[in-house]
Order: sequence, then structure tokens, then C-alpha cells
Amino acid sequence: MHKSTGKNDGYRASRERVRTVYPEPRHSIAYTDHPLVQHKLTLLRRQETEPKKFREWVRELTWLLAYEAVRDLHMVDYPITTPMGNMVGKHVADRVGLVPILRAGLGMVDAFLEVLPTCQVWHLGIYRDHKTLEPVAYYNKLPSEATVQVCLILDPMLATGGSAVAACEVLEKWGARLIKFVGLIAAPEGVARLQASHPHVDIHVAAVDDHLNDIGYIVPGLGDAGDRQFGTG
Ligand code: URA
Repeated sequence: MHKSTGKNDGYRASRERVRTVYPEPRHSIAYTDHPLVQHKLTLLRRQETEPKKFREWVRELTWLLAYEAVRDLHMVDYPITTPMGNMVGKHVADRVGLVPILRAGLGMVDAFLEVLPTCQVWHLGIYRDHKTLEPVAYYNKLPSEATVQVCLILDPMLATGGSAVAACEVLEKWGARLIKFVGLIAAPEGVARLQASHPHVDIHVAAVDDHLNDIGYIVPGLGDAGDRQFGTG
């Protein structure tokens, strides 16, 4: 419960009334042909792009994707006074949790926090077994119960879909109601797998590429997003 200070109580009361409803299954995937996104994505993909520039472009692309991914957040009225008088503005009411999939998802966190600084961040460690290509969960920093209305899974690459599906399962078991996936590049196979198992999870990416190769990499893709960010390739 909030302790009342008398200031902005109307805003708090209306924020507490905001309820999240389970979305209808809708197989929603959004990818954008916006020139800024496609320009930066092309630079990001190039094999000669060094880790410093790679991280910068991951960050800039994430800003642009974040803008669309959170466009349906609930808002509440927020009375303010400008130097010229009073007005009723708007304030984001939903609490948002960022769930970066370690380690490649880390590069997307700061960009989200810059545009939505009140997000909570919970790390999920899931790696892909190189033989089976199936996800293995090794780290989970979720609090004991769900405290937000919207969870955004962050992972630059939606490849086989195994990690994304595993993350959705963890979050649903934990009590998350509205889950979205935000990434940079998807493979059609990953999109199909995530949509088949979690049809209500919106997918936001900058591009859907051609296919997965036989070791689970997206083609043409950009290689290993973790190695390219952290210089470990
Ligand atoms: N993970 C990556 O980093 N790149 C791919 O192409 C697929 C999975």
C-alpha cells in the first residue's frame, strides 16, 4: 500500500485501479520497415562491425523497437502545472518487467531503461545445448511473485524459439499475465514455434530472415549476438 502524502493521490488511486486482462491469442508479429531500423540493422549485421559499434547499434535499435513494443501500455491522467497554467497530462500506469535472456539480451536492457526508467529487470539464464539445440535454464532471478503487469522478454535472436518458449513457460508459471518478446532478428522457424506454443505473446523484431541453418543459426542473420557484443567470438 502507498502511504499517502496528499500529493498526486488521484494519480496513485487510478494507477491502482488499472487491471491487466489476459490478451486473446492473436499470433501477433510486428517487424518494421522503418528506414532508421533497416539502416542500423544492416550496419549491425556486417561481419566487419566491431563489438563497440555492435553494442551501440543494438542499443539504438532497441530504442526504436521499444517505442512500438510498449505502445499499448495503460495510461492514467496526471495533473500538472506548467509555467503557463494547469493541465491534465498522462502518465504510464503499467509496471513493466524486463527479462533479458543471458547473455545476449543484456545489450538491450539499458536502452529500455533509458526510455522506461521504472522497469524492473530480472535476468533469466537459458543456454542452448549445442547438440540437442534445446534450452537449458541455469539462472533465474525472478522475485517470488509477479509484481508487474507486463513482462518483456529481451533476446536479440529468435532462432529455434526454444529459449523464448522456455522463458514464457517460466514467466507464466510465475504468474505473468501479459508477455511480449522483443528481439532484433527472427527466423521463421522460431516465430512459428513461439506462436504455436504461446499464441498470445506479441513478437516485436526488426526483421524476419530466411531460415535457420543446421546448427541453429539464423541465415543471413548476424552470427552469434553474444559473441559479437562481448568480443568473445
Ligand atoms: N543465437 C545467435 O546469437 N545467433 C543466431 O543466429 C542464432 C542464435
